[in-house]
Amino acid sequence: MNERDSDAVAAMLRARGYRIVPDEDDCDVLLLNTCSVRDAAEQKAIGKAGYLLARKKHQPDFVLGILGCMAQNRGAELLDRLPDVDLIIGTQKFHRVPDYLDNLRAAREAGIPVGAAIVDTEAEAGSQNTIRDHLEGPVEKVCAFVSIQQGCNMDCAFCIVPTTRGDERSRPMADIVRECEALVARGAREIMLLGQIVTSYGRRDYAHTGNVTPFVQLLEQVNAIPGLERIRFTSPHPRGFRADLADAFARLPKLGEHVHLPVQSGSDRILKAMRRPYGRDRYLEIVASLRAARPAMAFSTDIIVGFPGETDADFEETRRLCREVDYDMAYVFKYSGRTGTPAATMEGQVPEEVREERNRVLLEDLKAGSLRRSQALVGTVQEVLVEGPDKTGLRFMGRTRGNRATVFEAAPRLVGRLVPVEVTRASVSTLYGHLAPAGAGLQSAEAAVSL
Ligand code: SF4
Repeated sequence: MNERDSDAVAAMLRARGYRIVPDEDDCDVLLLNTCSVRDAAEQKAIGKAGYLLARKKHQPDFVLGILGCMAQNRGAELLDRLPDVDLIIGTQKFHRVPDYLDNLRAAREAGIPVGAAIVDTEAEAGSQNTIRDHLEGPVEKVCAFVSIQQGCNMDCAFCIVPTTRGDERSRPMADIVRECEALVARGAREIMLLGQIVTSYGRRDYAHTGNVTPFVQLLEQVNAIPGLERIRFTSPHPRGFRADLADAFARLPKLGEHVHLPVQSGSDRILKAMRRPYGRDRYLEIVASLRAARPAMAFSTDIIVGFPGETDADFEETRRLCREVDYDMAYVFKYSGRTGTPAATMEGQVPEEVREERNRVLLEDLKAGSLRRSQALVGTVQEVLVEGPDKTGLRFMGRTRGNRATVFEAAPRLVGRLVPVEVTRASVSTLYGHLAPAGAGLQSAEAAVSL
């Protein structure tokens, strides 16, 4: 989401005549787009801003702006730590950045001394509709991000997002579909639909039609765009996975065999304390329904270890659930108390060393599971969407329908195409292989998983 918001601000600045330079040492204006989800992310951003502000000693015109969630969360209070910051712009005001910058620079050029920083963190009605058309010219990446909704109305006890991103607001469906069509016309082959809780998309704005939620209606329309190969979305909420969404995976071919399904904990007691509206049985039921729709379905998830009150037995429940689901990948977070959230003041805060140890144990478990699942794909032929050169620039990389990164030799003309790749080797997170001969039968991951 932040990457996409940063692209949007960069596109607006380019349209105003600003130039984006590759090296931060060469810039006149530097904007830090920040995250608040954990305390460590905020501390890192504050440290970086402090370091950058030292530049004002020899470059007095240098402008530093702080954007995004930390700006929203801390607002003008940031000036106590960083008094020389010029802009503090919240999550509903990204589209105002060019005007604020122009004003600031015009004032300086006219010799008007600029006093206080510009701080704007007010909510703005309709701001979700300003986050569109953020890429100009041909699309450079095969996968394009499309924001469909902002904010969240859930109140998970650990989460700062409802504070930093505000109430749920959805963009009009027709606007989203138009944006996707335009991106495909300019070269995108995969669309990633983005929002804080995408499965709630449009629930106040559109009727369910025959028990089909507005989110699934949107998926149907995006699936129908000619030239588009794949659709992904993040982040969903387990409560949004009803029969219509499982059924969408069975009938919409552009949805791959991968779902990111945040679980947070495998213990019913902790899920309740987190205010997550499902238990482990319901979660496993969702997993089963998606595997019934697509037997090769791969899952990734988010897990918090060391939530207040989490005992060894609760943690073992989480480990057990991970074994049952057999995830391809998981983001594991040590619980980080966020001021203003209910969990921050709950009794039973778990000591740092216990959180650390649970984090280590769970990562080890998950790594072993991921490796086993990767290795099960060796010898199969996978359909890969070629994204571009890999990190070394010597080979190419793409993703399977199950979202596994795959590295192989190819030609630049294949970027953006679906190709069959025979998997010859696998690490925890990456498959390696070579292009399979034309006409080679695609052996689905399904067959491999059942080996
Ligand atoms: S659903 Fe997601 S974004 Fe919303 S409060 Fe819960 S964790 Fe935060």
